[in-house]
Amino acid sequence: MIYVALGANIGERAKQLLEAIQAMEKAGLHITKQSSVYETAPVGFVDQPSFYNMVVEVETTLSADVVLEYLQRIELKLGRERLFKNGPRTIDLDILLFNGEDIQSKHLTVPHPRMHERAFVLAPLEEIAPDVEVKGMTIRQLFMNLPDADRQDVVRLQTLVNLV
Ligand code: AMP
Repeated sequence: MIYVALGANIGERAKQLLEAIQAMEKAGLHITKQSSVYETAPVGFVDQPSFYNMVVEVETTLSADVVLEYLQRIELKLGRERLFKNGPRTIDLDILLFNGEDIQSKHLTVPHPRMHERAFVLAPLEEIAPDVEVKGMTIRQLFMNLPDADRQDVVRLQTLVNLV
């Protein structure tokens, strides 16, 4: 299975998540599961609005490189602005897992190298894929291993359709 993380913290956050999902479907990235939306405190540069994050499960016959290219096109199309690393952005799309593949290329590292430490990724991923394993650990175990303070920074809101 393929899992993609979505995040937005500028403008109408839920609407941007929905537009990204619609654009993914249009590009042939068929979405088979959607987590709820989570409101999460920014990591890194903290003086910025909170994020809306979610994770989707995707089915496609496209390669990881092509999926990344499509996701980057969607980021551009939705007018992603990025002033600096970890700063505010309209929409951020990351490939978390790609059919159990281990990918290390110039453009892509999968499993996503920082997913293990990010509550804003693991909370929604745990909701739709608790038993999926990454390097011998389930997503549920990875999530439970996070410090309590990190897990508390992530608040489950509602499903996306109820927010837009
Ligand atoms: P960011 O938007 O800050 O998450 O980073 C975007 C950059 O990360 C792009 O240049 C991608 O080529 C690179 N990248 C590496 N691994 C991944 C991944 N698993 N998913 C998305 N982008 C990735």
